[in-house]
Amino acid sequence: MNSLKYWLLLLILFTSCGNQETFQILNLDTAKKMIQNYYESGQFDKECAEAINVGIAEIEKLKLSKNSAVVFDIDETVLSNYEHTKELGFGYVYELYEKWLRQGNAKAIPETKRFYNWLVQKNIKVIFLTGRHAEDLASTKKNLLAEGFTNFDTLIVRSAQNKKIAAAEWKALERERLTKNGYVIIACIGDQWSDMVGGFTGIKIKLPNYLYIIE
Ligand SMILES: [Mg+2]
Repeated sequence: MNSLKYWLLLLILFTSCGNQETFQILNLDTAKKMIQNYYESGQFDKECAEAINVGIAEIEKLKLSKNSAVVFDIDETVLSNYEHTKELGFGYVYELYEKWLRQGNAKAIPETKRFYNWLVQKNIKVIFLTGRHAEDLASTKKNLLAEGFTNFDTLIVRSAQNKKIAAAEWKALERERLTKNGYVIIACIGDQWSDMVGGFTGIKIKLPNYLYIIE
């Protein structure tokens, strides 16, 4: 019995030490420098390439049809808002973010562009499904075209009435609607798990995002 108590105590101590390590707090400046280094050293692109290559290998195993489609999220998946976020010291101000979106100057994420080119060459349809507002539709389209995404089937933005439901739920409903309209969704690519929970996702390609989380 004594021996059991001893082992239980050891287990509790071990678990507590583990928790302390898990919750080690970083200085905000240090954290920002780490994030900047991650995005600017090529590590972000490398991790994107790895996730996309796994996705391509999976897609290559599928039997495709003329309605096969891949659903793309836009922000931090197709277009990068990194420069804007960095300018604000890795912060977020709604009005400034909307202003940035309306300028339509975001740069393409190179690895996602490579994936898009591969899909187009395979005659797989491309659908953009973004939480951006209807007011951002024109600048989003302009930005996508300017960055070379000229060959897509549909661009879906979020209407005012759909803003009330969670991003994940809304995206799942839209994928269901697309499927009912005849698309066969073979894969989803996004930087948030909320881009790919629920049904009708196909293969899930999750890109890294160390800037924010959308639930
Ligand atoms: Mg996104």
